Amino acid sequence: MRLDPGDVALCVADDGPPTASGARPAATPIVQTSLFAHPDLSSLTDALAAEHASHVYTRGQNPTVETLERKLALLEGGEACKAFASGMAAVSAVLMGLLEAGDHVLFVNHTYGPTLQLAEHLGRFGITHSTVLDVSPEAVAAALRPETKLVWLESPGTMLFRLVDVAAVAELARKRGVLTCMDNSWATPLLQKPLALGVDMVVHSATKYLGGHSDVVAGALVTSAARLQRIFYRAYLLNGGALAPFNAFLVLRGLRTLPVRLRQHEADALEVARYLETHDAVAAVHHPALREPELAARQLAGTTGLFSFELADASYARVRRFIDALEHFRIGVSWGGVESLVITPSREDNAAALTARGIPPGLVRLSVGLESAELLIADLDQALSF
Ligand SMILES: *Cc1c(COP(=O)(O)O)cnc(C)c1O
Repeated sequence: MRLDPGDVALCVADDGPPTASGARPAATPIVQTSLFAHPDLSSLTDALAAEHASHVYTRGQNPTVETLERKLALLEGGEACKAFASGMAAVSAVLMGLLEAGDHVLFVNHTYGPTLQLAEHLGRFGITHSTVLDVSPEAVAAALRPETKLVWLESPGTMLFRLVDVAAVAELARKRGVLTCMDNSWATPLLQKPLALGVDMVVHSATKYLGGHSDVVAGALVTSAARLQRIFYRAYLLNGGALAPFNAFLVLRGLRTLPVRLRQHEADALEVARYLETHDAVAAVHHPALREPELAARQLAGTTGLFSFELADASYARVRRFIDALEHFRIGVSWGGVESLVITPSREDNAAALTARGIPPGLVRLSVGLESAELLIADLDQALSF
């Protein structure tokens, strides 16, 4: 993992405004208030006229939330950031803030399920979408339509963790006048900087690695100040997906250990993935550093703890028996916390539907936590022979 020392220092650094004695707190204060009272009426009316940049009401701006926003904007190398009540609130704000009836969204690569479900719902408002799973720039270019307004990228993609050549896709979209947005939750800004690769917007589920402890749901959007302001008024302030100050504090606290957590997640996940590659009961391992090492080295400063693999016996009965036999991987949704998690998209009756979406039925996704690779490999070993 090649982490930028400036990024690491930015993650770790924290403080608050000085106390009366001039000493500064070592952590961001939680400004737990719903509203801000002003010294006189014209101060309030001025603030209301520019609510994106003023303290009026915590549904708009709040100092604790702003501290998080400043950090994430700097880490992504973007002009401005808005933090949201969840990753999906950030995704919704991009789609609902920028698209009109008649616009089309192209989803490149396997996309987070609820993002696609939201796109389905937006059909009611005349917004259409399609997905392209062949991520070669030629195939993406061919999938663009005259009415395509936005290209949505996930790299690595959901479930199979395939990479997209982000710079190439961003460039071809730009040439066609199409906006791009990257869901950068997997890599975090420490391992991938989509804006530097030519992407227009970055969204995060801060619930995952940024928070890092499975104790907060949060999201963020980073883009130019002008575009963020447009989204603020069109799909933030009125949609009501504001991040609570306490939850912003939890993400800020998570960020302080993000670099050290990521180093350990990478090392342990690689050990686990390499072990799985050697096992007879495993048909394939989907880890970007093992599957696409060249593109991974070019585009990512490292890899994380989330990857998947396929059981050689892809029957649902086998998948369930394997998962239920695990003792140290907890069975649950989400990922990116300190505890290891396992999940599968397989159900009793959906093998054909999965295959149609390009997902192999024997797929198992692991979020490798910080328990130690040795313990996790021993656990996988006993469950694979169960
Ligand atoms: C979890 C997740 C989201 C949604 O974030 P929430 O915080 O759960 O709303 C979006 N994208 C990806 C890739 C995710 O894993």
